[in-house]
Amino acid sequence: MSSNELSSINTKYCSSLTQYVRRKTTVVTIGNVPMGGDNPIRLQSMTTVDTMDTLGSVEQIIRMVDAGCEYVRVTAPSVKEAQNLAEIKKELLKRGYNVPLVADIHFTPNAAELAAKIVEKVRINPGNYADKKKFEQIDYTDESYQEELERIREKFVPLVKICKEYGTAMRIGTNHGSLSDRILSRYGDTPLGMVESALEFLRICEDLEYYNIVISMKASNTQVMVQAYRLLVQKLEEEGLRPYPLHLGVTEAGEAEDGRIKSAVGIGTLLEDGLGDTVRVSLTEAPEFEIPVAAKLVDRYQNRNNHKAIPFVEKNPINPYAYKRRQTTDVHTIGGTNVPRVIADFSQVENLDVQDLKSIGHFYLPALDKWSMNDLGADFIYTGHQKAPFMLPNGLKEIVDADTWKILPDQTHVYPLFAARWYKTDVVKHPKLNFVLADIEDIDEKLLLCLASDPTVVLILESFNEHAMAELRRSFITLLNREIKTPVLIKRAYKHKNEEALFLAASTDVGGLLVDGLGDGVFLSTSKTTPTDKTTLLTNLKALNNLAFGILQAARTRMTKTEYISCPSCGRTLFDLQETTAMIRKRTDHLKGVKIGIMGCIVNGPGEMADADYGYVGVGKDKIALYRGQTVVNKAVPSDRAVDELINIIKEDGKWLEPVVSEFV
Ligand code: SF4
Repeated sequence: MSSNELSSINTKYCSSLTQYVRRKTTVVTIGNVPMGGDNPIRLQSMTTVDTMDTLGSVEQIIRMVDAGCEYVRVTAPSVKEAQNLAEIKKELLKRGYNVPLVADIHFTPNAAELAAKIVEKVRINPGNYADKKKFEQIDYTDESYQEELERIREKFVPLVKICKEYGTAMRIGTNHGSLSDRILSRYGDTPLGMVESALEFLRICEDLEYYNIVISMKASNTQVMVQAYRLLVQKLEEEGLRPYPLHLGVTEAGEAEDGRIKSAVGIGTLLEDGLGDTVRVSLTEAPEFEIPVAAKLVDRYQNRNNHKAIPFVEKNPINPYAYKRRQTTDVHTIGGTNVPRVIADFSQVENLDVQDLKSIGHFYLPALDKWSMNDLGADFIYTGHQKAPFMLPNGLKEIVDADTWKILPDQTHVYPLFAARWYKTDVVKHPKLNFVLADIEDIDEKLLLCLASDPTVVLILESFNEHAMAELRRSFITLLNREIKTPVLIKRAYKHKNEEALFLAASTDVGGLLVDGLGDGVFLSTSKTTPTDKTTLLTNLKALNNLAFGILQAARTRMTKTEYISCPSCGRTLFDLQETTAMIRKRTDHLKGVKIGIMGCIVNGPGEMADADYGYVGVGKDKIALYRGQTVVNKAVPSDRAVDELINIIKEDGKWLEPVVSEFV
């Protein structure tokens, strides 16, 4: 990193935008597994078994530890669960497991104070440690606000003193969905509100000279989450507070592929800039399955410091604390206000057939001689040196290599892809749309001048650097600083054999740019290796196409699916979350763009699903509360009728569509 860069960037959230450097943090003692400083980025998760079920909890914890979990969080909703942590600990030690335990506290200082004497760490939520939420908007004067802070101090100081005495660590874990009425009234539902919520508690800790602290800023909205963590780092430095380790997580990320993509977009974006000392991936799956995902996210940074050098940034034009899409011109439906586009790479598929396009959401119906398309229909195909030997559907356009394009008898609806070095000199171009493939080394003065003066060009930006996101971002910064408004598609090619690893890498690299408003489309491929049969190629294409749409959705830049904000479940969960999520999904997954929260309990559920349009929340045995936004519509519906009732509410709002029975999946 250059000192030049340090002095020139207008942000303090990371020490370099171009050289991977892990943020230097304080070391926190958590049992025998320290966090922060030069310690590895730790992996953790949370149990889902009732905390009063000692043996069930112990067995689950053992499965988690055997999967690589380094800290285990266990919910302690009341004093009796906090007390039972001692039994769980005893049994674990008896079985040779000395993993640090973390008590998860909401609303109950008594439970926290007891747990802090038993386990290695307590997690408090500053939104509900000293406050009960009444959803009130209160006009605070400076005086009345100060009085509130005094009240918090009174409730919080005893816990801090116990932690100090017992050497117990603490996480101050802010959640976007459960900010106090006080914070919401003064700062709103914003990243700044999230940061201030933690700082109110942190200042008390520092006053009492207690520093064994980790902080988190979780949200289900990846943009809000990324901005809040960055702002936290900046504020810690501005206020002269210590650089505490960060616990990274996206709340209620969901399940399966979507949960993994969303987690990687949020967590990966921060890891790329060297932030994060521990990771928890929250999936609606058994906690031991979260650990390999977290490990794959973190493993990418083991040797990252040795990446190829990237030119330093003299002026950073990106505001890391607020989303703003880079302004680009609309070039033939790419850029401008168009949704980001998806390009599918068919260049390795020989003898292209109409039915091959099924893999990317376009379906030919021979009986009707018509095309149909599902929500994940790609916008462009790149076919390399060959042109598709049939007419494409209306919603799909084709890109071929420039050499191939030049000899086509009809060039109207096919667009050329130029290598950057040829584009600068070539005179034969499409009158409406030309693609130029470039990496950072191609972006020289001549190319910039060509881009600035050509209203038909779309840049396809790629990177071969191990620190790819930063290198791609560096090229965007050049374009921004030169005020060049050419749309840019982000291209990445992956060699990964493991599909999950590929998903996580792509979600991090591409998502990390999208959350900062960079990119007008996504172009993913697997690098050419040994010849692969056509069926495998098409299966891969389908997976990459779904991934591209998944990343755009997770970064909140193009919504094509129903979004499920489901909690990962814990000892408080009142129904089988996986099964219920699958059931709700089956009935509603055609409702494009609708966000449904599925929460295991009423204690935290409504707060955690701040972002959802509708909520399905457990309130008791076989009893569900249904929400419209944050407002409860029905307080206790029997669970066997709850999904129908939920659909009725969606219908009342005019957001319901009958599912189309289709073979197109
Ligand atoms: S919302 Fe889910 S994860 Fe959160 S406390 Fe309730 S049951 Fe546990």
